[in-house]
Amino acid sequence: MTIFHIITLFPESLESYLGASILSRAQKGGHVSVKYYNPRDFVIPSKKGGELTYADRRVDNRPYGGGPGMVIEALPVIKAISKALKSATDKGKNKKRVKIIFFSPAGEQFSNALAEKFKKYTDIILVCGRYEGIDARIKKVFPMTDISIGSYVLTGGELPAMVVIDAITRRIPGVLGDDLSIEESRVASPDVYTRPEVLEYKGKKYRVPNILLSGHHKKIDEWKGGKK
Ligand code: SAH
Repeated sequence: MTIFHIITLFPESLESYLGASILSRAQKGGHVSVKYYNPRDFVIPSKKGGELTYADRRVDNRPYGGGPGMVIEALPVIKAISKALKSATDKGKNKKRVKIIFFSPAGEQFSNALAEKFKKYTDIILVCGRYEGIDARIKKVFPMTDISIGSYVLTGGELPAMVVIDAITRRIPGVLGDDLSIEESRVASPDVYTRPEVLEYKGKKYRVPNILLSGHHKKIDEWKGGKK
């Protein structure tokens, strides 16, 4: 079982994606589990009692040295990570292997090879940045690996967290039903076909390539290999 601990200010932005289809089944089947930690819940409110407003729980502040945007304060994130770490090490007798990832456009490019490496951890803590990022001292307290999902800048680390969780989860044995669905273990083509054999649309006919109907597996693999 791999447990993903997500540190995010916006847990609701991940819940629908992680709660659908194969990722949902992977959780119900006990292959993976997802936990959320919101740094906002670790803010000491500026006022006592009464209803706490969004402003009472603010976690962003102006950057030292000036510049645009806001920076997420260190302490709420440190406390959230610390809670995730505690939950990772608390239960069970089995030895836990914990990895902490921070999402950054300047990090190491995520890949299938990294997904394969990360898969070996029992607990993966994913720290999602927002605004201009997180106070750099967080990484002094908890060393973590900076990961980028591509050379573009997003508004937050939530999409990157979903990308990484998705790519790792589908590689865990049993999750896809048929482990041969993992691309590297077979000849895979980006072009795939299903029924009907002849698709009719606006008076035109679109056929499945004959080779795929031939039953000649060696030739089919050659065709798929050539299509890569
Ligand atoms: N000027 C900041 C940009 C922050 S973008 C910087 O260079 O770091 C806001 C947050 O979104 C980042 O802290 C990071 O967590 C996330 N993010 C944005 N683009 C990303 C990418 N391509 N890969 C991973 N995380 C990304």
